[in-house]
Amino acid sequence: MFEDLQPAPTDKILALIGLYRADPRTDKVDLGVGVYKDRDGKTAVMRAVREAEKRLLQSQDTKTYLGLAGDLAFNEVMAKLVFGDSADFTRIRAAQAPGGSGALRLAAELLKRTRPDATVWISNPTWPNHVPMMRGAGLTIAEYPYFDAVSGSVRFDDMLATLKTAKPGDAVLLHGCCHNPTGANLSIEQWTRVTDLLVERGLLPFVDIAYQGFGEGLEADAAGLRLVAGKVPEMLVASSCSKNFAVYRDRVGAAMILAKSGTEADIALGHMLAAARTLYSMPPDHGAAAVRVVLQDKELRADWEAELEEMRQRMLRLRVAFAEALRRQSNSDRFDFIAEHRGMFSRLGLTEAQVDRLRTEHGVYMVGDSRINVAGLPEDGLDKLAQAIVSVLD
Ligand code: PMP
Repeated sequence: MFEDLQPAPTDKILALIGLYRADPRTDKVDLGVGVYKDRDGKTAVMRAVREAEKRLLQSQDTKTYLGLAGDLAFNEVMAKLVFGDSADFTRIRAAQAPGGSGALRLAAELLKRTRPDATVWISNPTWPNHVPMMRGAGLTIAEYPYFDAVSGSVRFDDMLATLKTAKPGDAVLLHGCCHNPTGANLSIEQWTRVTDLLVERGLLPFVDIAYQGFGEGLEADAAGLRLVAGKVPEMLVASSCSKNFAVYRDRVGAAMILAKSGTEADIALGHMLAAARTLYSMPPDHGAAAVRVVLQDKELRADWEAELEEMRQRMLRLRVAFAEALRRQSNSDRFDFIAEHRGMFSRLGLTEAQVDRLRTEHGVYMVGDSRINVAGLPEDGLDKLAQAIVSVLD
């Protein structure tokens, strides 16, 4: 029966890893995969997470099932991390999920159960996995314009104009911060205008926050989401700990619901967990438990925040230095937007052919849409890299 299958489409980003590994050049540069890397190209275990793991190893005396919602204390601290201490927690519920991806799928499954005909509006461009994930839950998707490749900024008026055509009950998938793949984000003023539109048109905000702490800081990165939460009756959130706790492979995330009342929130959570039961039953414990230990312990939390802040500052410094190198090498301000963007990614605005040439001629690897991982920029080789980029422009 398997002879009837055609090969599944390969994930372009994962395929790039293979090409990079097979490249024998010693001065190759990996700007592809979306994981944070330090100066030496390593994705280290964070100090506080390692300490939390040690404590867990010593104290954990059972590995029996925890239940569909996973670690309840984790859910509580995560909801606070995302919504802030002063949110209305009587209306908020959270469920631990396998990564931000699992959280997105759980939120989508809940939406499908409550509004089977809803369209999910996603930004163009967006993280490519948003599309199959929403479709996988049986939802319809539509796009709103988001990014102007020439100026490197958000097409805000076009975005609003398109969202005005959404029907009440539709959901709008918003990147909480650090937009992937563009790095171009909404200002607080723009978040306010989006919120007004959501309320006016009866649209459901569905916020994907996968990089909290990577943009302007832990609190500032959640400011847009919190502003929305303070004004709308209902909302869905998918949050990931993969990047900000560097627990990528442990699969740690949380799906959150803001409902009109506590009773409605409980019922919605029940449906989300029923969906989880049919997908994977229960989420993996270890990473979430480590995150919970970090967030509950004053000293570990302070150390985690300090290390996260170092990572954020490194990306900011790299952004500024890379924009300067590109300015020097190109004698133009074409790439200045890189210094204005926030998060791990920016899109350079190159064609696929130019991206291919960078890989074959210069050993510089980036995703086909010219998305670069800022954390992968070589601190001591920015001018050489900028020169390579400028050389493929004509
Ligand atoms: N949302 C966005 C925008 C992302 O970039 C990612 C990770 N690349 C995720 C969600 C999911 O991350 P994970 O499932 O690894 O936690």
